[in-house]
Amino acid sequence: MPLARRRSLLLLLALALSVPAVAQAAGPVAAPLTHTATTRLAGAAFPPLPACDYQDLQTRFGKVRAWRRTMVDTNLRVGAGYKPFDLVSVAQAGIGGSGQVRRVVIDDLRAMAWAAKKAGKGIAVRSAYRSYSQQIAVFNGWVAREGYQQALLFSARPGHSEHQLGTTVDFRSASSATAPWDYSDWGTSPSGRWMQDTAWKYGWIMSYPKGMTKQTCYGYEPWHWRYVGRPLAQEVHRSGLTLRKFLWRRFESR
Ligand SMILES: [Zn+2]
Repeated sequence: MPLARRRSLLLLLALALSVPAVAQAAGPVAAPLTHTATTRLAGAAFPPLPACDYQDLQTRFGKVRAWRRTMVDTNLRVGAGYKPFDLVSVAQAGIGGSGQVRRVVIDDLRAMAWAAKKAGKGIAVRSAYRSYSQQIAVFNGWVAREGYQQALLFSARPGHSEHQLGTTVDFRSASSATAPWDYSDWGTSPSGRWMQDTAWKYGWIMSYPKGMTKQTCYGYEPWHWRYVGRPLAQEVHRSGLTLRKFLWRRFESR
């Protein structure tokens, strides 16, 4: 048999053998999706979203400039030295509260805060950028308060927090200094509801929505929003996928 023909037969055989494995891999993780924009992400076979283990793997897009694609979860982390070079005060966005975010976040944070205020659902910043060493303190605080296993559900180990990216904010209501996690469900408060309806239009995605813990690895956090920019946020919103699953399929697993 000519070499070229043998090669193509081998290729066919390899393809035939790989089909069941791919179908299986796409099985339970590929939830039914209805939006047409998602079809691209849902239609092809993807490696399954990794389980919520507690590994310490360097994330694939771990450079500050790759911030839109950077996936951090209970397994994947950025380095201890990861620090955005353009942190500025959230006050530059004319929003209440304190903390720092990356300059790239400011314009849309300002626009969103203004729109929320105009709608009578004002928002403020409860917590924004956290360095690796600040995250050590935050995580240890939760461990002391709730125990290690429980802390893992609500707080990230150092290097694994989206707050270290400088693009993530925990919001609260502008009308009250009460921490959003001290509400029974901040997501049903006027400001929280407004955010759920509107924030994606300004480039923000809720990383840990309700009832999705198995996929996101964290409990429901209606206050925790990550900025990915308007075009990508629109795609994530239309996909109906959690941000973790979206980033995995679109970037990390490719
Ligand atoms: Zn947060």
